Amino acid sequence: MTNVHPVRADFDKYQAPNYAPAQIVPVRGEGLKVWDQQGNEYLDLAGGIAVNCLGHCHPTVTKALHEQGDKLWHVANVMTNEPALMLAKELVDNTFAEKVFFANSGAEANEAAFKLARRYAKDHFGEHKDQIIAFNQGFHGRTFFTVTVGGQAAYSDGFGPKPQSVEHIDFNDITALEQLISDNTCAVVVEPIQGEGGVISAHDDFLVKLRQLCDKHNALLVFDEVQTGMGRTGSLYAYMQTPVVPDILTSAKSLGGGFPVAAMLTTDKIAQSLVIGSHGSTYGGNPLACAVALAVLKEVNKPETYANVAARSEQLKQGLLALGKKYDLFADVRGKGLLIGAQLSSNYQGKAKMILNAALEQGLMILVAGTSVVRFTPAYIITAEQVELALNKLDAAIAQLMVSNWE
Ligand SMILES: *Cc1c(COP(=O)(O)O)cnc(C)c1O
Repeated sequence: MTNVHPVRADFDKYQAPNYAPAQIVPVRGEGLKVWDQQGNEYLDLAGGIAVNCLGHCHPTVTKALHEQGDKLWHVANVMTNEPALMLAKELVDNTFAEKVFFANSGAEANEAAFKLARRYAKDHFGEHKDQIIAFNQGFHGRTFFTVTVGGQAAYSDGFGPKPQSVEHIDFNDITALEQLISDNTCAVVVEPIQGEGGVISAHDDFLVKLRQLCDKHNALLVFDEVQTGMGRTGSLYAYMQTPVVPDILTSAKSLGGGFPVAAMLTTDKIAQSLVIGSHGSTYGGNPLACAVALAVLKEVNKPETYANVAARSEQLKQGLLALGKKYDLFADVRGKGLLIGAQLSSNYQGKAKMILNAALEQGLMILVAGTSVVRFTPAYIITAEQVELALNKLDAAIAQLMVSNWE
């Protein structure tokens, strides 16, 4: 029985029904290419939801994985290890941060950030300072605290009493923020570009105001860069292209290029509130994960990488604008670097998933963000030819939908 070839139908039989995976089962990947069980080839502009930032099985990263895999996989945090020591130093050397805490997922990095913000406020200002302000349509993960801070109640409803003192206001709404923030606020949590929420950028003047108000009220500014981080927007972190610097930053997704690893970055002063025993993780800072992340970071953090991200971003955006015009399909093409969203025009609201499915049939993997935004988060190594090919496949997919009248 164990020799029987696994098939898609086994998913419905054996796995919890919280996902609705596509009918194809990918078995191999190389660069931007992926093959399924039947040997069909796909061009991957989804990158595992902004994760496979160097494509599939990048030789440098695979080498790091193999080398560390032959050396040491895991030691508990009762000891430290060389890859973790090196990765933490590399992150500190290249960002505002002075201290790093490692975790395994974006949600866990955010969980650590929110707990730290609460503890720091209690340590310095008292128990009353516990309010967390976050934004509607924001996304911070699926643990109960992080999903509650996320701005879609539908994701956090139905699991019993929620963590308290979490408030939401509209993204980019300075007036609402001014009215809500007070000396009871311990943190404001923001994505520099809302990814899941539809690829919507925070305005520079909004971020400046956010920074000012946080300083005025001794609240910490937390940047969730789980999706925007690790080169995605054309700099190592997105904050580097804004006028502000956060107090806490979280990184995951592209950090491991496909291996589960996450980090919370902060200053020395704030980190002091994470006293011994106050927080932890069995796998966090695991040597295998850190060796892979270190290889990804060194490969990503090069001028050539950022130059390609910027050039391919421009090319993809221009191509999408042209396609949008051709079919009167997109109301807006936006985003930064290789985090790009195409907002469907009013005639095509709610049809993003249909485009995703039609693209897959043309051998193109893309994403959606909500029901009316088509999202692209390809690897930074994507070539001009591959962007061209992707646009041609997308064109064919849209033409097909038009012919079949979106039935
Ligand atoms: C994906 C994402 C998360 C959650 O990361 P997981 O690794 O799925 O826990 C948190 N914040 C943002 C902005 C994300 O895009």
